[in-house]
Amino acid sequence: MPSSQLNIAQEIEALRAEIAKHDRLYYELDKPLITDAAYDALKKHLEELEKVHPEFASASSPSAKVGGKPSSKFGKVQHSTPMLSLANAFSSQDVEDFLERVQKFLNLPISAIELIAEPKIDGLSFSAIFEDGKLKVAATRGDGEFGEDITANALTIKTLPKEVSYLKRFEVRGEIYIDKADFLALNESRKALQEEQFANPRNAAAGSLRQLDPKITASRPLKYFVWGGNIEGASSQWELLSKLKSLGFTVNEKIRLAQNSEDLDKYYSQLFQERGDLEYDIDGIVYKVNNFALQQRLGALSRSPRWAIAHKFPAASSFTRVLNITVQVGRTGALTPVAELEPVGIGGVIVQRATLHNEEDIERKDVRVGDLVEVERAGDVIPRVVRVEFSKRPENTIQFIMPNNCPICGSPAPKEEGNVIRRCSGGIRCEAQIIECLKHFVSRNALNIDGLGEKQIEEFYRQGLIKAPDDIFKLGQFANSIQTWEGWGMQSVQNLLRAIEQAKIVDLDKFVYALGIRFVGEATAKILAKHFLNVEALITGCSDAAHLSSLDGIGEKIAAHIVEFFSNPQNIELFKRLASHLNIKNFEAQNIDSEISGKTLVFTGSLSTMSRQEAKSIAERLGATVSSSVSAKTDFLICGEDAGSKLKQARNLGVRVLTEEEWQKLANI
Ligand SMILES: [Zn+2]
Repeated sequence: MPSSQLNIAQEIEALRAEIAKHDRLYYELDKPLITDAAYDALKKHLEELEKVHPEFASASSPSAKVGGKPSSKFGKVQHSTPMLSLANAFSSQDVEDFLERVQKFLNLPISAIELIAEPKIDGLSFSAIFEDGKLKVAATRGDGEFGEDITANALTIKTLPKEVSYLKRFEVRGEIYIDKADFLALNESRKALQEEQFANPRNAAAGSLRQLDPKITASRPLKYFVWGGNIEGASSQWELLSKLKSLGFTVNEKIRLAQNSEDLDKYYSQLFQERGDLEYDIDGIVYKVNNFALQQRLGALSRSPRWAIAHKFPAASSFTRVLNITVQVGRTGALTPVAELEPVGIGGVIVQRATLHNEEDIERKDVRVGDLVEVERAGDVIPRVVRVEFSKRPENTIQFIMPNNCPICGSPAPKEEGNVIRRCSGGIRCEAQIIECLKHFVSRNALNIDGLGEKQIEEFYRQGLIKAPDDIFKLGQFANSIQTWEGWGMQSVQNLLRAIEQAKIVDLDKFVYALGIRFVGEATAKILAKHFLNVEALITGCSDAAHLSSLDGIGEKIAAHIVEFFSNPQNIELFKRLASHLNIKNFEAQNIDSEISGKTLVFTGSLSTMSRQEAKSIAERLGATVSSSVSAKTDFLICGEDAGSKLKQARNLGVRVLTEEEWQKLANI
């Protein structure tokens, strides 16, 4: 695989993992770490990458899923029709594109398609089924197909009708939320009781609704708006909502019919202006095709209907004052200027620092100490300074000058050619780099030592107990002293020592990754481990740049950095010291007798029994190499559904083509 492909694969994997993590925090734990806008940006980025690189598509990608798994603590309810999520629009252009797709699909002029615009309430989606005039069952959205049974809790929502005059079976769908004032009051009372605060109204609503004890739910000020459902006789969204309203359900009063994109734009701008004054949080506008017959014709893609789109409001931002500009030093010595801010709430999170990227960025934006700046939390978890409000610039602002030396160790920090980033040349003499390297060494994808996180690493470093990675394995001698420290006890020290002991047996690729060689991520570490198989061969081989760059997936630049790392006597010393503590496992294909061991495989199309990621890891376990493109070196092409150009290429090159079933047989699955 060329290195650019590898980088993309890595980026996609990283994004998927990140999104899956946030999905779990959001849907299952009700404890999000990032704003919805930031989450949307992550998801959009992933979708774009997957669109451009369909070879990395995976049915298990979060982009193919609707929401979270229903928590096992509630009973499961299967939705009568899937509760899909909506596709997102982030600009007027996206909305135009949506309308165009709808028109094309229906082959109708826009004048023949009535639209309806609804504020997108930032709450928790629910479905409620009524039979014989009574609320029978209520459920959360869950994963779209199965939701959690929250009937007992829904019954406690005061404004939700429990009995209606309409006796036939029908369904309502809507959004349960807590309004802003109630949210603040709720957090106040929790603060008084020293209970954890909710991050935002949405989480307060979700946390309140998903209580095992309905009494707790009843004590929370939950409200709802209906936005959908299924009731006999309604031929449009507008009619449905009118009917539900007449039965006593709460319908948002801001909902309007619209005819074209100008109407939608106007509505969007108006609500965007008004949203601060609304009693509840909205995070965008939903546009739907009003007519149900047309909705039916349009149908749905795998996870979202074609007849609706959510026009999201832009990422949350706030204005605050720059108190200082400092410089952070990363693991590889990169110097990053950081704005120290007067604390400000953005999207429910208090922000005190924001990145300024590099000196050119500061210059371009002309950010100075004392300035009032707009800070945004967007696609990054790290907030960033967007711009200076020049009209509010005070007289005594101080211009920032990027230092030529590392602020921590004083070593020269020059820019590399063609790069705007300054890098500390101190290497292992630089305390900042040492600490960041130590953090990397124990991180989850490296040695993964439980109980030894960033905080503990800093603490041990400051106390002089850990100066280099191998010191971690000598911590035992300080056990008696550590357990007297604040926040530590006998038990926690013992747990830590046990985790360290367990981490001593390490796979070669994890070990190589843990070393933190610049540009050597997990994938590159794996390539090296797979090629050299044991640590001795790896050390020898890593001094030969030509050899390294001949490996698939390792370019000249990476090769040069690897050689540089292994030619440094200090690194070799460290390597030896670590080796005396560690049991570095040789890289072994688990089943070397396998027919595919040593072969090069390419997957194409979608597999029905497993994700591409899983297939790849199975193949690698059996000693095969998985490549993303077909060449004369390819031994097998495994074809899932909808295989495209790769199949043609394989046939032209005479590469053996396998069906999914044949692949399973070959891999002994
Ligand atoms: Zn330094």
